[in-house]
Amino acid sequence: MIERTLVILKPDCMQKSLAGAVMERFTQAGLSLVACKMIRLQESLLREHYDFLMDKPFFPNIMKYMMECPVLVLVFSGENAIAVTRGLLGPTDSSLAPKGTIRGDFGQDKSRNIAHASDSRETAAKEIARFFTESEIFA
Ligand code: ADP
Repeated sequence: MIERTLVILKPDCMQKSLAGAVMERFTQAGLSLVACKMIRLQESLLREHYDFLMDKPFFPNIMKYMMECPVLVLVFSGENAIAVTRGLLGPTDSSLAPKGTIRGDFGQDKSRNIAHASDSRETAAKEIARFFTESEIFA
């Protein structure tokens, strides 16, 4: 099944100059980069993106972290793109993520974990539409 998924290279990824290395993990796995933009995440957009975490005690920290510097927002396309990107990322907590996964190799902890990737087809469709118009997607 060919899918599209949204990936955000988070501030820690950008600060560690790992954008190229992380993107390469996805393209080496056979996914195609079909959209890309660098943005400074605005508070309103970020609240929408993480609204399911609004009640968590760590929510203010996520907001602060995600606005530390501009991020790269990407769309990848390919066979089972959603499961493939999530598998390459590894679990949320970088300290528990196996070596060989992006978070296991480059992440710090539960919060600073290098990248976001959509977790279902429904979420991917919503997230892609949140950041891109159809004419900005080249596939
Ligand atoms: P994932 O990014 O793996 O899909 P979630 O959707 O559960 O994970 O959480 C979104 C983001 O919120 C995480 O990637 C991480 O940056 C942050 N986060 C999640 N859980 C925690 C936590 N317990 N403490 C601090 N930050 C967290």
